[in-house]
Amino acid sequence: TPDVRPLVAGNWKMNGTRQSLGEIKAMADGVHGMLSERVDALICPPSTLLYVATALCTDSPLMVGAQDCHQASHGAHTGDISAEMIADCFGTHVILGHSERRTDHGETDQLVKAKAQAAHEAGLTAIICIGETSDERDAYQTLDVLMRQMIGSIPLDATADNTVIAYEPLWAIGSGLTPTPTDVGVAHAFMRAELGQRFGEEGRHMRLLYGGSVKPTNARDLMSVENVDGALIGGASLKAADFLAIYSVY
Ligand code: PEP
Repeated sequence: TPDVRPLVAGNWKMNGTRQSLGEIKAMADGVHGMLSERVDALICPPSTLLYVATALCTDSPLMVGAQDCHQASHGAHTGDISAEMIADCFGTHVILGHSERRTDHGETDQLVKAKAQAAHEAGLTAIICIGETSDERDAYQTLDVLMRQMIGSIPLDATADNTVIAYEPLWAIGSGLTPTPTDVGVAHAFMRAELGQRFGEEGRHMRLLYGGSVKPTNARDLMSVENVDGALIGGASLKAADFLAIYSVY
C-alpha cells in the first residue's frame, strides 16, 4: 500500500527458553545491519522472555511484542498479564485474537475488541488476527467471516498507528499450505475497502499483514500482493536466518 511502511512480525507461540535468546540477538543484529528504511521488524517471544528480549534489542530497530494481554489493567486474574505490564517491559506491540487463542481459550470477537482497547490505553499497537477455517472457505464464507471478525474485534478507537490487522486463514497456519496470491489479494482488497469505509484515512493506512506458512521461499510472492503490508510469521520466525531472509525481501 502506498505510504504504508510494511511490518515483518514473528510469533514464537509457546516456544523459547533462555537458550533461544541467541536467536533474538542475531535477529536484532541482522535487522540493525540491514537497517532497512523501508520496513519495520518485530519479534513476539513468550512473555517469560519479554523483558530480557527488549534489553537485547536496545541498540537495534527490532521491536519486541507479546502474544496476548488481559482486557483489564490489573487485578485478580491469576496467570494473565496486562497491556501495562507489556509496556513496562518495553514491549511495543501485542498480538490479539490469534486463532490459537480463539480456539484454545474460547476468545470471542467481543473479548478481542476489549483487549485491543486495553492495549491502546497502555500505548501498545494491537495486532488483531482474523481468518476463516477450511470449512468456511469451502462454503465460500471467507469474506463474510472477515467482515464479521473485523466489525466484532476492531475497536472504534483504532488508528493506523495503534492497530495492525493480520489475515491468517486457519488452514494455512502451520500447515505448509498458503492461499494463492490471487486469493490473498481478494481478501486484502476486501479488508482495505471495509477499513476505509469504517475508519476513513486511518483505515486506508492501517497495516494489513498476511500470516500462514510464510517461509523464505514464498515470502516474495506473498509480500508483493497488493494491500499486503508485511507478514506475521510463526514457525519461520524461530530461527534468525529464516526471519532475516523474509525481512530481506523488502
Ligand atoms: C501464526 O500462527 O501466526 C503463523 C502464521 O504460523 P506459521 O507461520 O507457522 O504458519
